[in-house]
Amino acid sequence: MGRILRYFDPIAHLGDARYSFVFPLITNIVVNILSEIFTYNVAKNPMAVGTYIIFLHAALIIYFAFRSGIIGGLTTSLIAIAYYFYIVVNRHYHGQTLSTGIETILILSVLYLLLAFIIGWLKQTIDIFIEREANEKIRLRTILDQLAVGVIVTDNQGRVTLANRYLEKITGTNIPMGFVIGKDENPVKSINNGIIVKPIESPLYESLQSGKSVFGKEFNLYKKSGKKIVISINSSVIRNKKNDIIAAASIITDMTHQKELERQKDDFLNMASHELRTPITSLRMFIDLQKRQFAKKGWEKAKYFNNRIQDQANQLKELVNDLLDVSRIQTDKLYFDKEKFNLAETIKDGVEGLQEAAKQNKIVIEQLDNAFVKGDKYRLYQVLVNLITNSVKYSGKGKKIIVRVKKNTDNVVVSIRDFGIGIDKNKQKKIFEKLYQVTDPKEKTFPGLGLGLYISREIILRHEGKIWVESAKGKGSTFYFSLPLVNDELT
Ligand code: ADP
Repeated sequence: MGRILRYFDPIAHLGDARYSFVFPLITNIVVNILSEIFTYNVAKNPMAVGTYIIFLHAALIIYFAFRSGIIGGLTTSLIAIAYYFYIVVNRHYHGQTLSTGIETILILSVLYLLLAFIIGWLKQTIDIFIEREANEKIRLRTILDQLAVGVIVTDNQGRVTLANRYLEKITGTNIPMGFVIGKDENPVKSINNGIIVKPIESPLYESLQSGKSVFGKEFNLYKKSGKKIVISINSSVIRNKKNDIIAAASIITDMTHQKELERQKDDFLNMASHELRTPITSLRMFIDLQKRQFAKKGWEKAKYFNNRIQDQANQLKELVNDLLDVSRIQTDKLYFDKEKFNLAETIKDGVEGLQEAAKQNKIVIEQLDNAFVKGDKYRLYQVLVNLITNSVKYSGKGKKIIVRVKKNTDNVVVSIRDFGIGIDKNKQKKIFEKLYQVTDPKEKTFPGLGLGLYISREIILRHEGKIWVESAKGKGSTFYFSLPLVNDELT
């Protein structure tokens, strides 16, 4: 029944550009025969019959032109005109009635044909638009399906309106249309930091709630097959001209392969630095033994070379330790042995030790407030060493370095100020990134791997502290780090 109704419904044929005269022809013949029987046998008033016939045909032309295009309208008009001629002949019109009849038929023919053309043309234009739109949709869909990233689009309520094929490939699940992100239970088990992701934690939902984009959120997904994959999601809202949110979209990238490569790289780094540590330790031990022998024998020249070798071996040890620390950070294995201690004492001892090594620079402690913190003494000392060695390295011989330990109400701030080469404003944030070194073609290059500040930042962050820099190119830099005071120290 539904199918029959659909066949007659002109709206159901919008967008269908197949125009045929068969259906209008048959239907019109049937309607006209029935109408002829009705008017001839039942209706007797000629005025009423005439009006009825004209309206009937006008309605038929509109209907068929709208259902089957110009051809449908034309067929209906021609049958109507033919029917009128049949009446004129069949009812034996003559004289004045005949000429009025012919005149009326001609006027009606023009009107009917015009109506058929206008409505038919309107219908065909609408069809062209609908087809174009549909083609555009298919084209877009094909492009989206062939993208090597997952794409999901929702309306402004989070209801899925599109999920491309690659998404299905990544997740191994078909996300049904109408699935509501942020409300319906996640179709695939997603884990973030070891905890199952709740629907409201979805980046797309987050974007819809905040109106802002979310970048690079990583999740572990467990496919139905049990296979674990790592995905990264970028989400964003789509707004109309009035700035209202009308949709939201997420791009999902499969990071599994990349993560595996990163893991292999980290494993290698970890293994290599571990393996390197043993020979370096023996090397340093033998250099030390040799040094003592040379001292006993009074071989000054040999002692000099030995000291140089020792310096290089120490540098090598520092490098390997840095690599090992990076590997520990990456694999979440940087452990801290935290205790409560007076930071001022560690800084004072540290500065004294470093002053011994950096004889050509004067390291001055200008302020030294006693401040108790809870942390790993060795690791925090490592941060100080890093910052002071950088100050020495990047300021050159003879320059002063000022250290301050300032206690505030709830934290302690340590600052190390130098008067060296300084750092460009736009590079100040980047220097804390892994392997980042400021390069300036005009400046001399300094040895290093760009790991010291990265490690220092990680250590400070894992002590709930902050690290930052204030610097002006050519004038010098001040590096700061702050640490929270332990409870009974708060003033
Ligand atoms: P490295 O010193 O081994 O290159 P770091 O991570 O310690 O690595 O420092 C990163 C970069 O920050 C350095 O390459 C240098 O360009 C810049 N930098 C660090 N400390 C200073 C400083 N005190 N003055 C000027 N530039 C500095």
